[in-house]
Amino acid sequence: MAILLDGKNLAKKIRDDLKDEIIQLKEKGIIPKLAVIMVGEDGASKIYLRNKSKACKEIGIQFEEYLLKENTTMDELKNIISKLNSKKDIHGILLQSPIPSNLNINDAFYSIVPSKDVDGFHPINVGKLCLSQDTFVSCTPYGIVKLLEEYNIPIQGKHVVILGRSNIVGKPLIQCMLNKNATVTVCHSKTIHVEEYTKSADILIVAIGKEKFIKADMVKRGSTVIDVGINRDNDGKLCGDVDFNEVEKVVNYITPVPGGVGPMTIAMLMCNLVKAARNQEL
Ligand code: NAP
Repeated sequence: MAILLDGKNLAKKIRDDLKDEIIQLKEKGIIPKLAVIMVGEDGASKIYLRNKSKACKEIGIQFEEYLLKENTTMDELKNIISKLNSKKDIHGILLQSPIPSNLNINDAFYSIVPSKDVDGFHPINVGKLCLSQDTFVSCTPYGIVKLLEEYNIPIQGKHVVILGRSNIVGKPLIQCMLNKNATVTVCHSKTIHVEEYTKSADILIVAIGKEKFIKADMVKRGSTVIDVGINRDNDGKLCGDVDFNEVEKVVNYITPVPGGVGPMTIAMLMCNLVKAARNQEL
């Protein structure tokens, strides 16, 4: 049976450490504050927002919500972002996706100043990651690196296979793993015979949004499997992109869903926010 990579527990440890750092920042007159913008009425986004707000408040981060109407124009959205960019007491700005399709999400992300881009989506921050410079790393890939490090799972020289090439998970992960000296293979929906790659992975990271896609015969015995996917099975139960019950019998380490990558993503958002607040001191 595999060892569980417990993201819930590690996320709690990270939040506890941040709590102490926030107390020190407050003593210097800096109160970390996150502004979150949501456009429209997406049900899942509301739940994410509630979770983020709760997690932030618990450790002393202030949280300001901007709930915009579905028919908000691009100019109105950019105007709000611009005001938040110049507010000294706001350290991070997060635009909750999805936004209505008439709005250009990339344009909106790019109008957030890089120093407050705690999601790590701005091209300047993405570019810095590619150049191995200090930056805000996108929260899910950042959380995955932390989880591997916590369990002393070596990355250097290992074959890391990533399934999925989205801008928020797959692509920044490629860079994170290269920066850790892994040999990286990326698969996507046009990859032929995905299993030929997954079977050779020392570390397999799956972020495709396909319920229980990875089966036991698609992984290498003794490897590490990181499941980013969040799906519902036929019974409405939360599950990942990996068939956990099958795969955990053959690998050494595996993340559960829920309780693996998910909590780490929120914890790393808070790390980025505290880093942005700390940068204000400099
Ligand atoms: P996305 O934007 O929908 O991208 C999915 C990626 O998977 C695409 O690159 C797609 O390839 C690739 N893909 C689809 N089918 C494939 C297949 N059969 N074999 C190989 N690659 C395939 O997804 P995302 O935003 O990265 O999210 C992926 C999953 O992670 C979702 O379930 C999402 O809910 C979850 N997620 C979880 C967290 C967390 O904190 N736990 C955070 C973010 C996302 P193409 O590029 O060719 O289309």
